[in-house]
Amino acid sequence: MFKIMIALAASLLSTAAFAEDHAHAAHPHWSYDGDEGPDHWADIEPEFSTCAVGKNQSPVNLTSFIKAELAPIKFDYKAGGEQIHNNGHTIQVNFAEGSSMTLNGHVFELKQFHVHSPSENQINGKSFPMEAHFVHADAKGRLAVVAVMFEEGKANAELEKAWKVMPHEAGEKVTLSEHILGTAVMPDDKAYYRFNGSLTTPPCTEGVTWLVLKNPVSASKQQIENFTHVMRHHNNRPVQPTNAREILE
Ligand SMILES: [Zn+2]
Repeated sequence: MFKIMIALAASLLSTAAFAEDHAHAAHPHWSYDGDEGPDHWADIEPEFSTCAVGKNQSPVNLTSFIKAELAPIKFDYKAGGEQIHNNGHTIQVNFAEGSSMTLNGHVFELKQFHVHSPSENQINGKSFPMEAHFVHADAKGRLAVVAVMFEEGKANAELEKAWKVMPHEAGEKVTLSEHILGTAVMPDDKAYYRFNGSLTTPPCTEGVTWLVLKNPVSASKQQIENFTHVMRHHNNRPVQPTNAREILE
């Protein structure tokens, strides 16, 4: 019993550490293509084994929805985005303390958001040109991610506060001159799908609550191209089997 508790404590600590920096940044030597691409992540490090053997992996194609009475997410965000980081896998905006969301009475603190292109999750088989992941952690380090899909259209003004100073070199960090309000990047209607999943990057840790907003927001062609140009490669893990999971709506 004691050993199990130690192991549990260790895994919660490491999950919290990932939330602090980024769900994506711990190990440099994995990628989205070739010998170090998603099909090989589990071979790179023993601690990445969940990427291959996990049964609740993200992303997924969201479909076959189960009707549920999902309580609205209560967002209590402040304009707190203070730093933008190119970690080589994504562009990430880190947040100062003070922005949180409450889900069924449970409080999660916003740590950061980052972007994938094309989208990682799909909705009824549809892929989107970009997807943002707002990563939150509760007091015990349990993660909840709010995912926002982008369609090409008019520019996203709030995202632009970060995009106009996006660092072009991997490892580079820039302090934002204007704070970013996370909810201003999102759609007004925050209806969502819910399912259990994982980090979409090594070590693919499970136990992550996924909340995918049903309604996309727009970003301009230029904003999408700026991101893909700086990344120089796509950064989406392919969709994973849903297995026994239910996607609630
Ligand atoms: Zn992500």
